[in-house]
Amino acid sequence: MWAYWVSVPSHWREIPARYRLEGGICKNCGHTMLPKEDVCPSCGSRDVVTKQLPRRGKVVNYSVVWNAPRGYEYYTPYVVALVRLEDGTMLLSQLTDIDPSQVTEGMDVEMVLRKVRVSGESGIIAYAYKFRPLIKSD
Ligand SMILES: [Zn+2]
Repeated sequence: MWAYWVSVPSHWREIPARYRLEGGICKNCGHTMLPKEDVCPSCGSRDVVTKQLPRRGKVVNYSVVWNAPRGYEYYTPYVVALVRLEDGTMLLSQLTDIDPSQVTEGMDVEMVLRKVRVSGESGIIAYAYKFRPLIKSD
């Protein structure tokens, strides 16, 4: 069951990034990141502050997963996509609420919160962001 184990403290530390897309921006070079890191991976500056990332973006590229890692078999087949948020931040995310055959590069997506897994004996139900096709109101 080790693969499912998530300590309670690390679970709480990850909440801002996983629940709210709270990332970071480097005040030196403008690089944005998720999760926020202490040191900018782009320029090495430590001048990184918290930034609320936009919840909408576009699929840049994607891959359909047929052989899932343990704990994720339930979702197969599912799509993992490289998403470019409206501010340019790139992140990897599972897509949800869509048949894998319907996914296209460039499609508009928005963040939603979804259950990811239940962690072993602690019983923590992990939620995290996923992206779904943008529901347009026109
Ligand atoms: Zn930087």
